[in-house]
Amino acid sequence: MANDNDLMKKIVAHAKEYGYVFQSSEIYDGLSAVYDYGQMGVELKNNIKSYWWKSMVQMHENIIGIDSAIFMHPKVWEASGHVDAFNDPLIDNKDSKKRYRADVLLEDYIEKINGKILKEVKKAENRFENFNEAEFRKTNGRVLDNQKKIDDVNSRMKAALEANKLDDLRDLIIDLEIADPVSGSRNWSDVKQFNLMFSTEIGAVAEEANKIHLRPETAQGIFVNFLNVYKTGRMKLPFGIAQIGKAFRNEIIARQFIFRMREFEQMEMQFFVKPGEEMKWYDYWKETRQKWHLRLGISEENYRFHDHLKVAHYANAATDIEFNFPFGFKELEGIHSRTDFDLKQHEEFSGKKLKYFDSELNENYVPYVIETSIGLDRMFLAVLSSSYKEETLEDGSSRVVLKLPPALAPTKVAIMPLTKKDGLPEKAREIIDSLKFEMNCQYDEKDSIGKRYRRQDAIGTPFGVTVDHQTLEDNTVTIRDRDTMQQERIAIAYLKAKLMKAVSFTTILA
Ligand code: ATP
Repeated sequence: MANDNDLMKKIVAHAKEYGYVFQSSEIYDGLSAVYDYGQMGVELKNNIKSYWWKSMVQMHENIIGIDSAIFMHPKVWEASGHVDAFNDPLIDNKDSKKRYRADVLLEDYIEKINGKILKEVKKAENRFENFNEAEFRKTNGRVLDNQKKIDDVNSRMKAALEANKLDDLRDLIIDLEIADPVSGSRNWSDVKQFNLMFSTEIGAVAEEANKIHLRPETAQGIFVNFLNVYKTGRMKLPFGIAQIGKAFRNEIIARQFIFRMREFEQMEMQFFVKPGEEMKWYDYWKETRQKWHLRLGISEENYRFHDHLKVAHYANAATDIEFNFPFGFKELEGIHSRTDFDLKQHEEFSGKKLKYFDSELNENYVPYVIETSIGLDRMFLAVLSSSYKEETLEDGSSRVVLKLPPALAPTKVAIMPLTKKDGLPEKAREIIDSLKFEMNCQYDEKDSIGKRYRRQDAIGTPFGVTVDHQTLEDNTVTIRDRDTMQQERIAIAYLKAKLMKAVSFTTILA
């Protein structure tokens, strides 16, 4: 396949051509970093949400879901620390006039050196038998040197970020001779902090209007409802509150399709635990969330954990599940041990007690929290990009196929009459009527069967069912598997059960 940049371009073009993702307001030349989901995209998105909701809420007795509003009292964002600290360190390139996140430039630099190490190790593995001692020592030396470089950059970056020393961050970029990835220029401005929250005004009369923020995360809607849920749901620790919803961030770097958007969706769960037990639950959620990803059947090699160097102001441990996107490994999901920071802050700012009564200890306390937070749109991109395949077939022809996990595929089955006459379309519609309450079906009678298969491959439909003249005689159809392209003839009576088994969430959740 072509290089990664080309691959990303192909995925963006494919997503548009087949109704997955459109640029927002495209007829007005678009709005930067804002996207719309088309007829296929919305189905894939809904299926990802459903998989998350089922596995978090439906499969856990002690997790419930809520849907809190996007607008919240302005004090919420003071209490959470977002007004003061939800900043990105920005740096401008004076020649290209492009703006970057200083920490991301440094992380990309580290990633490049990491790539060099991996290459060196792979080369050594391949030539292991023929390696002499001198070569081995040389390779080892280079790997160690590069590892030391990474450690040095990491520790300088960590120190600068923790002390909020923006000049040190800039010095590091200069010392490492990091160039603007677009222009190659090293003419950098100072580093400045930039708050990412959008604001608007609430209230009809301008003078009386209050400035409020569009929520930059869904988590705070959960914290402010802690007491409501705990009391009305008669919850006992440990318990979780889950929510899926929109979040808004005025992102500066908005160049990676739906990876970094200004309006996006999060799927977050806050798990409230007894203080002192947070590390046990942090490990539990790391493992559980990893399994959630792997159960989709996406290759394990695409995932890795990245523990945070600098934990956010609210956390005592944090890790990212990173995914191998076409532009490299980047954060897909965060798992954070948030201590009792948020609830305590809301106690202080609201003046209300947000405590749990532990009947065994006969004691009130503020619970600790483990958070799992995944971007729905990033998950969408992870699924889409890892499913996109260009294949050359045995007869020399080629196809583009989206090998989506069947449970997530927008359309589960295409029902195709071989011809438009002889009662075949009616028979096909009869089959659709028997399936449509359970799954999304598509009726397709246009063009040759071969063309119709290609179309369904391109949108990722896992199964194609052909209705032919034999169907009218013995009530059998041929069913074609998208990935293997194998066809088999089966009785219509077995069709629903076969499809349900292959496309339902039960198979991956159980
Ligand atoms: P990044 O470092 O990439 O900006 P973050 O650490 O700020 O991400 P969190 O605040 O931990 O992200 O948000 C939780 C999740 O929300 C992320 O793991 C990501 O999947 C998603 N997310 C965050 N910002 C965006 C965005 N601008 N567009 C799409 N998804 C996002």
